[in-house]
Amino acid sequence: MTTPHRYTITPSDPGAHLFEVRVAVASPEPSGQVFRIPAWIPGSYLIRDFARNVVSLRAESEDRILELTKLDKSSWQCEPCEAPLTLVCEIHALDLSVRGAHLDMTHAYFNGPSVFPEVVGQSDVACEVEICPPPAPLGKGWRVATSMNAVEAEQYGFGLYRAADYAELIDHPVEIGDLLIGEFEAGGIPHAIAVRGHPKVEMARICKDLSVLCEQHMKLLGKPADLDRYLFLLLVLPDGYGGLEHRWSTSLVCSRGDLPRRGETGVSNGYRKFLGLCSHEYFHLWNVTRMKPRAFVPYALQAEKHTGLLWVFEGVTSYYDDLALVRSGLITPESYLELLGQTITRVLRGKGRLRQSVEESSFDAWTKFYRQDANSPNHIVSYYAKGALVAMALDLTLRRQTDWTCSLDDVMRECWKRFAEEGMPERGLESVAAELAGVELDEFFERYARGTADLPLEQMLHDCGINLHLRAARDARDLGGKPASDKNPLPPWLGANLASKDGRSVFGLVQTGSPGERAGLTAGDEAVSINDLRLTADNFDTRLKEYQPGDRVTLRVFRRDELVRLQVRLEEPPEDTCYLQIDKDAAEAAIRNRERWLSG
Ligand SMILES: [Zn+2]
Repeated sequence: MTTPHRYTITPSDPGAHLFEVRVAVASPEPSGQVFRIPAWIPGSYLIRDFARNVVSLRAESEDRILELTKLDKSSWQCEPCEAPLTLVCEIHALDLSVRGAHLDMTHAYFNGPSVFPEVVGQSDVACEVEICPPPAPLGKGWRVATSMNAVEAEQYGFGLYRAADYAELIDHPVEIGDLLIGEFEAGGIPHAIAVRGHPKVEMARICKDLSVLCEQHMKLLGKPADLDRYLFLLLVLPDGYGGLEHRWSTSLVCSRGDLPRRGETGVSNGYRKFLGLCSHEYFHLWNVTRMKPRAFVPYALQAEKHTGLLWVFEGVTSYYDDLALVRSGLITPESYLELLGQTITRVLRGKGRLRQSVEESSFDAWTKFYRQDANSPNHIVSYYAKGALVAMALDLTLRRQTDWTCSLDDVMRECWKRFAEEGMPERGLESVAAELAGVELDEFFERYARGTADLPLEQMLHDCGINLHLRAARDARDLGGKPASDKNPLPPWLGANLASKDGRSVFGLVQTGSPGERAGLTAGDEAVSINDLRLTADNFDTRLKEYQPGDRVTLRVFRRDELVRLQVRLEEPPEDTCYLQIDKDAAEAAIRNRERWLSG
């Protein structure tokens, strides 16, 4: 049996945010072992070049320092050596996101791609990892939370862990610190949630709700054979949101206010958002961590890898995340429709939806979706939000065309059966859908996945006893999903966002086709005045409300350090805000459809 690679990671200098990582290789490549650090992390499609955080590097064998040659931005080659050798590196860790690594006096957190060099040519060899405590007295009371299997470590303790190969090694994020841990079962499988940054979390309630949610997802796609444990890692920040999926765990960030307060029984908007995030990442346990685009089998983490299917893996997941909340009874149908109305609103407000398809958005994720600027909504569409709507439209189309005998649930089950091992080919979803339902879907995919046509949601939802309404936005905080909160007159439309930034009021997105764009207003302009009265992010809506659509106003802005005068003709605001309501007069068949759809 091949000797496993032995990694050792120590939060060696928390004050300087440095991990020490050692990689001991028993049988290095005699002509010169190459080590390599990934350029990106699965699930997040941006070149991050984790090797840039390597501060120092040396290789040694039998008390001898070996020469290391840097081959490119993220690989190093040792001088020829047949004896066991050890690579020792210091890695700077100050990225408090779910994709990187972070170390300070309060905790240590890392994702494998940020800290573990790959032993090139031997990535199939098993990897053992010794996770060591920081220098005393730090680390007293700290626990280790990871989904990696322990070899010689107490539960949640420092010690030796093991992964089957390098791909698995870098698929287990690790959180070390003062953790609150809750445990629960779902589908007979042990689950846990490890929380950092919130000492008084309502753990019993969260565990109960997550258990219901996880079982709902298992009902849809069935338990993966290798799912024998699952861990939610949660970092609570004053203000944060995000998650990254892994095979046996997920790493989440949420806002403190999103978690339920002691004694609270209802589902606040924040808690609904948190449950939706957990639901999203848990669905990924099937859709993208196990079944993935064929282009990702296996992952090649040195350069961009393109696929037009991210909308299937993120969009379909975004569709099922909230749908699982209503199907499991955690939220009401009305609450679900509010979320759906908000998603429709997000898509409608971006004119980029008419310029980029979800397939193109997937393909160009690396350079567009993940590298957005203020004007991106004018040019691109989110494969998450629009992808979720395409998934819903496909679901409702399949149901309608097969007299409700086939749905996206069936299609996803069949895809899971066929593609979990070898990956989904680029046209995999559509061929399975057409085959299973026995209907022609070419036009659907041409128009809505490869094309930019707006989805005919009004009719589709009407068939389920749901009315779709459009109205103008009330103000900058109006996310849609609900009828207008008041009947006060709306401000006329300028078509630009104004936000406070470092004490200045700065214009962000200037919408395509808006009065602001026609007048020459540009993202980055600093607001000065409207008709000679001071204009700020705080008084933006109030000032605009003093005018009517059709009025001409003079805007003054600083562009860099030049004062610029712009003549704007304000317009009627567009109806780009959606809300959905249950149709009280719906036909019986429509009510039955809605109940079947929302109950799964
Ligand atoms: Zn996702």
